[in-house]
Amino acid sequence: MKIKHISVFQIDLPLEHPYWLAGGRLKFEVLDATLVKIETDGGWIGWGEGTPWGHTYVPAHGPGIRAGIETMAPFLIGLDPRQVLDVERAMDLALPGHLYAKSPIDMACWDIAGQVAGLPIADLMGGGSRTPQPIASSVGAKTIEETRAVMERYRARGYIAHSVKIGGDVERDIGRIRDVEALRKPNEIVLYDVNRGWTRQQALRVMRATEDLSVMFEQPAESLDDIAALSGKHAAPVSVDESLVTLQDAARIARDGLAEVFGIKLNRVGGLTKAARMRDIALAHGIDMFVMATGGSVLADTEALHLAATIPDANCHAVWACQDMLTVDIAAGRGPRNIKGHLHLPEDPGLGVHPDEDVLGDPVATYR
Ligand code: MG
Repeated sequence: MKIKHISVFQIDLPLEHPYWLAGGRLKFEVLDATLVKIETDGGWIGWGEGTPWGHTYVPAHGPGIRAGIETMAPFLIGLDPRQVLDVERAMDLALPGHLYAKSPIDMACWDIAGQVAGLPIADLMGGGSRTPQPIASSVGAKTIEETRAVMERYRARGYIAHSVKIGGDVERDIGRIRDVEALRKPNEIVLYDVNRGWTRQQALRVMRATEDLSVMFEQPAESLDDIAALSGKHAAPVSVDESLVTLQDAARIARDGLAEVFGIKLNRVGGLTKAARMRDIALAHGIDMFVMATGGSVLADTEALHLAATIPDANCHAVWACQDMLTVDIAAGRGPRNIKGHLHLPEDPGLGVHPDEDVLGDPVATYR
């Protein structure tokens, strides 16, 4: 089996509500999505998606995905898509770095491999849990009152897990955490996501001032060096996502005890093949996980769900999904959808959901 065609599509995915990172630092209104269709000589078709959370969130660029695929495509035509490690090496040789450009190719190859094997991707990876995964909401808001309102909006949709954005203002952050905790329901999972929005002194002030609440913080400072400098000076569990990019990052975090949780962002780390190694490092070191797409349609959410299903239930807190935040649906309600705040693993072989091509329009590029 050989890769014959790679077609690349672009679509804008508008957010239903404008979205701010911690403290109103960055505003997002539309996501630039790249969908990739891989066709083989035997007629198998796989789909992948790469959708960064805008251009300003982390070093991942929508148009950069398309440019990266243009560079890598000549090295991929003719490879067997089921040999995901060969495809991974070919991409790494053709274009060092730029992991976010590789994830849609990796995803489409896993989709084909699963279809050929007659298995959902999670089962092909070794076995997928059928326990429904809680979806973490994304509560981006400027004021404490807005945070309260956004959480209520998600609760009304059944969500029990929430990623509450904080960062940028010490007193407001302490107030926001106390407000959310006072209203938190007994079964709810809440992660306070700083999105790198604190300096070291700000981090220590908030983390120490809220020690009585026993809450968890994500990415409390800019870099792994900053997070290492905080380590041992506060009592809170820490999740790292934006600074978890390479396998070397994962090894350092595990070895140096920088975090108790990995937030694995599939587009950020380069796809399922690379993320599976991070999962194994985490499991070997007593580190739990959140799994997320970074952004995008139900396809990206489904990819995250497959990885989450390969993690023992006790070690996977939630998946973060973007589908309920968008006004455009490229798969007309198909695939895993929010049911009482949870996603259920699809039983179809491969990824389990494909987009409607008429919604995507013509490809912006086809390589053959
Ligand atoms: Mg985060």
